[in-house]
Amino acid sequence: MLDLTDRKTIGYLCKKYNVHMKHGLGQNFLCEEWVLKEICNAADSEYKTILEIGPGFGVLTAALAINAEKVVSVEVDSTLLPVLSETLAGFDNIEIINDDFLKYPLSTLEEKLGTHYNVVANLPYYITTPILTKLIEEGRGIDNIVVMLQKEVADRICSQEGKKDYGAISIFIQYYCKPEIVCNVPAAAFSPPPKVDSCVLKLKMLGEPSVKTKSEKIFFRLVKASFAQRRKTLLNALANSGAFGNKETVLSVLTKAGIEPNTRGEALSIEKFAELSNIFYENTLQIK
Ligand code: SAM
Repeated sequence: MLDLTDRKTIGYLCKKYNVHMKHGLGQNFLCEEWVLKEICNAADSEYKTILEIGPGFGVLTAALAINAEKVVSVEVDSTLLPVLSETLAGFDNIEIINDDFLKYPLSTLEEKLGTHYNVVANLPYYITTPILTKLIEEGRGIDNIVVMLQKEVADRICSQEGKKDYGAISIFIQYYCKPEIVCNVPAAAFSPPPKVDSCVLKLKMLGEPSVKTKSEKIFFRLVKASFAQRRKTLLNALANSGAFGNKETVLSVLTKAGIEPNTRGEALSIEKFAELSNIFYENTLQIK
């Protein structure tokens, strides 16, 4: 059996199948056994159904398939298909779909995955946010998401109010999931090494959103407007956005919420954003 964590094996397969690594598709292949173990442990894949995005040469796919009930894996690069036929030949519980994950309907994948499944991926970093957004907004049966991603993005996702890297993505993800960093991964663990630091992140899907909002639409609009102009006070950022009425309206709602008008968005917790959006919902007819 081929050792897919060995760089020599990757070189051999590239030559045999005339495969050229595509930087534009975020192809940085994992070459460390300990990282595979960390991902598989975090994914808790035993007897589970797994959706993988981007199998590459199949190193993670194979590691997952050893214990999982079934692995459905979507790979956009068709030149990797003959390679995967060889590297995953010993498994009868893997299905490879040759398509762009962002264009492929998640509902069609869910017909194969069933009502409860986990998502596991060493993500192509150039589309980290669109992939996570699609999974979280469209996924119906996801229990956990375990992904390798840029450390800087993972830090932003896990960040809390008052921190520099706290922003709209922290709130979006923490509204639907409980994020946890599993481990940091050095660039040397990949072939070729990426130019950024990486880490494994686990997102546990919450059954219910983490905070109660009267209107999700207003909540997310408020978050977006508050961080669109980070250096501006909430009073100015919200009034300038044109979505929350004029300065007097915004000032009166901030006062009702007990928020100083010169506060910045990065100072508000997710709970405070929910409270503020609920007051906007109740007090300003024109934004509903
Ligand atoms: N899983 C392999 C590993 O850990 O070594 C490869 C990971 S590599 C970081 C990302 C993989 O995602 C590549 O195989 C790449 O071709 C694939 N990919 C890139 N864009 C994609 C897309 N839109 N849909 C599906 N797969 C994609």
